[in-house]
Amino acid sequence: RQAQYQKLRDKPAITKDGTTISLMLNGGLLVDLPYVEETGASGIGLFRTELQFMVSPTLPRAGEQEELYRSVLDAAGDKPVIFRTLDIGGDKVLPYLRTVEEENPALGWRAIRFGLDRPGLLRSQVRALARAAAGRTLRVMFPMIAAVNEIEEARTIVERELTHLRKWGHQLPERMMLGAMLEVPSLLFELDELLKHVDFISIGSNDLIQFMYAADRGNSRVADRFDPISPAMMRAFKLIIDSANKAGKPATVCGELAARPAGALALIGLGFRHLSVSPVSIGPLKAMIRDINIKDAEAAVMRIVEGDESGRDTLTQIAESIKLS
Ligand code: PEP
Ligand code: MG
Repeated sequence: RQAQYQKLRDKPAITKDGTTISLMLNGGLLVDLPYVEETGASGIGLFRTELQFMVSPTLPRAGEQEELYRSVLDAAGDKPVIFRTLDIGGDKVLPYLRTVEEENPALGWRAIRFGLDRPGLLRSQVRALARAAAGRTLRVMFPMIAAVNEIEEARTIVERELTHLRKWGHQLPERMMLGAMLEVPSLLFELDELLKHVDFISIGSNDLIQFMYAADRGNSRVADRFDPISPAMMRAFKLIIDSANKAGKPATVCGELAARPAGALALIGLGFRHLSVSPVSIGPLKAMIRDINIKDAEAAVMRIVEGDESGRDTLTQIAESIKLS
């Protein structure tokens, strides 16, 4: 099978009825970069910058951050890269950074919350990103946004760093695109406002599902209790993609749901055209996309949206019956 996936590397991820899906990859370290070439991904849809911080025994210096970000952009060439700013706290702990004990870390002082309250780290990271992307397009998104004002505060930090770099004569990114990760359900009720304040959104389905069902993603007793290919989740995803399309802003799904064949089918059926998954999932997903008619995925997922859960079995059947072509 791997050899057959390899043959698909340079073929487009296009459905039988002619819809192109952008299949990007999730990464976070230098070792992930060769996969852009190897898989034929159309870009890096989620670069988890905290991984460099997590594998390092001490805080990575600004120069080291900049060097990694430049390597990422070089490896991607003309393909887009979406950098996610530090997503620490919760289950992602940095040994050298003293934080407070929390009773509910997943709901605690993490990600953008930490970034805005202790902006030193976020500022130096943004500066490293901007320097690495001099003369190129820089896409940055912020994790765990829960309210629109947080994206505004994050934007202010970015603009301040750009002003600073300009003042010191540094070349700036040619173009800057800022996005929010949609991982907290509160944003579902603030989508139109949110979309006015960002250039793109990216759905972290791992966290969004965890918070929608109040089920810890790391606790196997509860994590698999709710199948996210359900009326509740499919309606949420439909609301997101319909709002994004109306606003003319791209929406990517970068959590594990997009890597599960039936999940990817459901998302494509709802209208998502950008999926970002781990490198091993690109080949199988591309093979599936090239063997489906989007109308079939649409019909099955719309049944779920209307409350008929048997649509999930149909999606699974479609996913299991694909032929490699
Ligand atoms: C997610 O929450 O789905 C996501 C992509 O981010 P992470 O898994 O790194 O929290
Ligand atoms: Mg997340």
